[in-house]
Amino acid sequence: MTLDILKRPLSELTDLSFSCACGHEHSIKIGTLAVGPGASARVAETAAAYAPRRILLAADVHTFAVLGERVLQQLKDAGLEADAYVFPEQHLHPDAFAVGRLFLEASDEKAGYSLLIAVGSGVLNDMTRLVSGRLGLPYFIVCTAPSMDGYAGSSSPIVCRGTKLSFYSHYADAIFADTDVMSRAPREMIAAGFGDVLGKYTALADWLLGERERGEYRCPLISDFMRGALETCAASAEGVANRDPEAVGHLTEALILSGMAMGLAGVTRPASGCEHHIAHYCDIDAVANGRDYPLHGASVGVAELAMLRFYEFARRDGLTDIETPSADAVRALLCKVGAPVRPAEIGISTELFRRAILEAMHLRPQYSMLKHVAAAGKLEEYTDSVVKELCD
Ligand SMILES: [Zn+2]
Ligand SMILES: [Zn+2]
Repeated sequence: MTLDILKRPLSELTDLSFSCACGHEHSIKIGTLAVGPGASARVAETAAAYAPRRILLAADVHTFAVLGERVLQQLKDAGLEADAYVFPEQHLHPDAFAVGRLFLEASDEKAGYSLLIAVGSGVLNDMTRLVSGRLGLPYFIVCTAPSMDGYAGSSSPIVCRGTKLSFYSHYADAIFADTDVMSRAPREMIAAGFGDVLGKYTALADWLLGERERGEYRCPLISDFMRGALETCAASAEGVANRDPEAVGHLTEALILSGMAMGLAGVTRPASGCEHHIAHYCDIDAVANGRDYPLHGASVGVAELAMLRFYEFARRDGLTDIETPSADAVRALLCKVGAPVRPAEIGISTELFRRAILEAMHLRPQYSMLKHVAAAGKLEEYTDSVVKELCD
């Protein structure tokens, strides 16, 4: 019965609430989910239903040119009052300063904004979610690239206080993922989204490991739900590489479902495990030392290869029997879409990559393959091996 709920098309998974065999009540509420060719044409009619006093559209120079300008015109053509705030940077950083600038615009009392619409990907979505949440306003995200899994999430990673902090806020009221637009996104952004999705192999394996080794809560239904989207996306590698809108649609759905799976489960487990801990460690190190950090999904994809090797070694040494694909198979998929497969390709030094593997487990309380291997006294040995393989 509950399985059938999650087998509905994504556009119908907007307002879910059900009792699950795992003993939990799962619920998530997103007003509108529009994924597919031409989906961005529906922004104005959806906005009109909110009867907004005035709308603020947030974009950067790139996303405004690609789609924001068109959406702004669509809102005006529908008779809605709307302004745009376009960040002028070529490379916008999601830091406290940028959040503050958006906050100043969005809270302008004279304008009286009552709905925010972000047009962009991770950075604009994270900042607009946080600002709208603090102002108690609804917000929409009109996606421009299938680059990360935060569209349907509720937290915003922001560079603040010399590190990268997650601020918990609210879900988007509407998500528009126009695959005609997203399939034309920069190649490295599409490849990063693909890497973020493939990271779910070890995230889901870690979730099972946590249940087996530490009795942590796990929902098999949500795990299967995530795995289904992951497998469909992985099978679309060829199409993603060729920017086929249908394949990019599968990638986009997997990214949106990742956020939803976390929301439904009430834990980050379905979408984040040891591979995300390593990527996060590298980001924090970069911020602390004033360096730029790679696209989230690019570092997740590279870390995924190291952690799939860990699972292979652990099976060889009798530490687990949890199945994962081989690192070689996943590397072939990443290579197919042009995603990075070595730390050096994304500016992560050998020293940092080694330190991240050795120390990332301390960033999060969850049990993971990193903790499992450390408990068995094998952490240094496995780390030497993957660092040699991926960094030499
Ligand atoms: Zn459940
Ligand atoms: Zn991620």
